[in-house]
Amino acid sequence: MIDLSLSIEQLKNVGSRNLPRLARLGIKTIRDLLWHFPVRYEDYSRVIPISEIEPGQKVNVQGEVLKMSNRMIFPKRMSITNALVGDETGAVKVVWFNQPFIANSLKEGTLVSLAGKANLDKHGLYLSSPTYEKIQDIEFKNYNLTHTGGLIPIYPETEGVTSKYLRFLIKPILKDLEVPDPLPEEMVKKHNLPSLSEALNKIHYPASNQEAETAKERLAFDDLLLFQLKALLERRRLNQLKSVRIKFDKDLIQSFISRLPFELTKDQKVAAWEILKDLEKTYPMNRLMEGDVGSGKTVVALIGAIQVAKAGHQSVFMAPTEVLANQHFKTMSELLGNGFLNIGLLTGSEAKFNNEIVDKTNLKNKIAKGEVDIIIGTHAVIQKGVHFKNLAFVIIDEQHRFGVSQRAALVKNTGPDTVPHLLSLTATPIPRTLALTIYGDLDISIIKEKPKNRQKIITKVVSPSQRKVTYKFIRDEVISGRQVFVICPRIEASDPKAEIKTKGPQSKMNILWAEVKAVQDEYKKLSEEIFPDLKVAMLHGKMKPKEKNEIMDNFKNKKYGILVSTSVIEVGVDIPNATIMMVENSERFGLAQLHQFRGRVGRDKYQSYCLLFSSTADKNINQRLKALVECDDGFLLAEKDMAIRGAGEFFGVKQSGLPDLAMASLANVELIKKARLEARLLLKEDPNLNSYPLLKERLESFQRLTHFE
Ligand code: ADP
Ligand code: MG
Repeated sequence: MIDLSLSIEQLKNVGSRNLPRLARLGIKTIRDLLWHFPVRYEDYSRVIPISEIEPGQKVNVQGEVLKMSNRMIFPKRMSITNALVGDETGAVKVVWFNQPFIANSLKEGTLVSLAGKANLDKHGLYLSSPTYEKIQDIEFKNYNLTHTGGLIPIYPETEGVTSKYLRFLIKPILKDLEVPDPLPEEMVKKHNLPSLSEALNKIHYPASNQEAETAKERLAFDDLLLFQLKALLERRRLNQLKSVRIKFDKDLIQSFISRLPFELTKDQKVAAWEILKDLEKTYPMNRLMEGDVGSGKTVVALIGAIQVAKAGHQSVFMAPTEVLANQHFKTMSELLGNGFLNIGLLTGSEAKFNNEIVDKTNLKNKIAKGEVDIIIGTHAVIQKGVHFKNLAFVIIDEQHRFGVSQRAALVKNTGPDTVPHLLSLTATPIPRTLALTIYGDLDISIIKEKPKNRQKIITKVVSPSQRKVTYKFIRDEVISGRQVFVICPRIEASDPKAEIKTKGPQSKMNILWAEVKAVQDEYKKLSEEIFPDLKVAMLHGKMKPKEKNEIMDNFKNKKYGILVSTSVIEVGVDIPNATIMMVENSERFGLAQLHQFRGRVGRDKYQSYCLLFSSTADKNINQRLKALVECDDGFLLAEKDMAIRGAGEFFGVKQSGLPDLAMASLANVELIKKARLEARLLLKEDPNLNSYPLLKERLESFQRLTHFE
């Protein structure tokens, strides 16, 4: 048995100067090294006779070094190593650059296996800088080669740590590898999975692609299982906590619903019912409400908050942006009517109490005294200095934009003994099985049905040649009194290095500026060239929240016909009079996101349009956009999007804390189901996993890892 927690310093073949480099790849222990999985394999499984080499091919040949020489090219300070390698069918030239040591290592007479590309130039056919390793016999087959035979692993690399070096470290450990398997043997057998040792072996050096797949499946299963265990334990923990029990008052809710200017859809009713039922429990609600844009999630959440208020407790409604918080405040004020409840708005830039602008301190005092029933705001509501008298219910809108830690901060806010009920709303339609994996500790309400008065939005892909006609169409709409959103993506960084930098905080600013530039350019173009006669406004991330609110207000009050914006309006904005969503360079957005944009229009009786401007004539790309023309089911589009972009990109890996491999296997519904089932069975049989110490240990480090997302 090998001790996986041993530091790689213990390995004989790691040079000390490579330790910091490996650390940069996250490799510090033997476990890290073995779990550094290949991104792909180079297929050198077919050894061919030298006479069969053809130019342009990647080949694997075996032969004897017949000639070997080094040459320096002085002006360029470059060394060239030339060799001639032959087998019984013929000989081939081999060339390496700047690796003069090869001449010492591969002396004439050495047997060698070579893998690399065959090129042809005026001097004839040659192998260009192939990977090489010494062999004992020429067998025309790959007998356990490390670098040049079979499926050879290609790893994520970093400066100074090449795949070749990683193979050199990993391959010897794999020999007779025996690692302790945290899963019970019966479970592994039951699902026909390979043992952990076997899976590790095969993921690095599979004999076939099939073997690699099986290995990946086993390793992904481990992660999925841990994830499910974590979720189930989290749920158990929550169920042991205390929350205020809010009794369902049928008359109250019915009278509120009957006063609404519309009839709730069946899905809305079901979701409201689920929420009211949760509120009646003595342990905290932990629910996610998923619903396509415009499906009417806000009013459903509000029903819960009304019940809470009338029971004498406070609710918080948190929105990701000030614009949205403002809008929620307005909508809720209208839906509630005067004097029914006391509501407050608290954002970074303003405070309101029942429609009056108030001093922030004043509002905070009222909150602390329990005089505000529903507090709507941005993350300002969880900042220091905000104390609640008796917070019982927290609603988080578009929770994709909130981190786990912010959620925890709110939950902590209630007091020593009780935690508030928690409801998150999202317009990202996550297929149910996936939601269960990613948010396994949540209950889920899904609103699929759209309110009845909604019209079908006409979606069109607009190619460059159709621009002119389309602009005319837009002008006519605006002149007839309707309004238009124009969304533009940020300008792509032309320098690929700038793209890489997008990870640091500094670069976040760069993105912002790039977005601002895109919006400004489009604004200039539309307001000066295309629609000089119309009123055009712009909105972007560099504006002060107050400025943004003003522009949104003015747009809502029809002072502008056209609003050019970045994707900030992506979530939640409600402008019923807007009938056109025009997306510039729409090919740069994901399908799910475009669907979100589309949801911004078609909110009233007018026929609405989603115009996807495309700057490319590329058929494939426009084909992808056509998916939107044909389909207006957010759930289906989300699945398509995920298939196209991969689940990792779709969710943002950080968000879920799922390791890459598990992420990649999210499309494997069967595997997810298995992991879910096994996690349940395990905890049922052994609630503290005491008979599975290894698994327990893995789970603890997994929890530590995902805790700091
Ligand atoms: P989302 O789910 O995208 O957050 P909202 O809650 O903002 O959607 O609702 C969009 C609009 O639809 C709001 O103006 C809301 O008042 C209205 N609405 C909600 N439910 C219904 C319904 N059942 N019938 C008609 N309009 C509704
Ligand atoms: Mg919303």
